[in-house]
Amino acid sequence: MPNQLTDNKCPCCQSTEIEGHSFDAEGGSKVGQEMYCTDCGSEWYDTYKLADQAIVANNSDEEQHRLNVLDLARCNGLHVDGETEIQDDAILSEGEDNGAYLQAWVWVDFAGTDLDKEAAPEPTSPWREDGTLRNPGR
Ligand SMILES: [Zn+2]
Repeated sequence: MPNQLTDNKCPCCQSTEIEGHSFDAEGGSKVGQEMYCTDCGSEWYDTYKLADQAIVANNSDEEQHRLNVLDLARCNGLHVDGETEIQDDAILSEGEDNGAYLQAWVWVDFAGTDLDKEAAPEPTSPWREDGTLRNPGR
């Protein structure tokens, strides 16, 4: 039966009394480590492969430019909480003109209109969440 790959057992005697020397990187996505079992004296070489990638920063020129425009918009007071909001991931649309369009959210107030949620609440559904009727007698 082939030994199952594991990072905390000796591949010969399955002991967990193992020691590792320092990691050495063979290339961008592979890292190796010399291992030693203090129980049976075996030596082997563990190889680690890239398992995941998580972006912690994206400083491409294009992204940096977008962030600069975002900063400029906020410094110029174009972001007003509850009225005109610019999110961190706002889309930038820029042409040849001396400026650019930046995506923003505009608040639309329903108060006193046909859309008013407080004056005319949604009618209650005849169905309960468990699928039964609220007024089965009718
Ligand atoms: Zn061993």
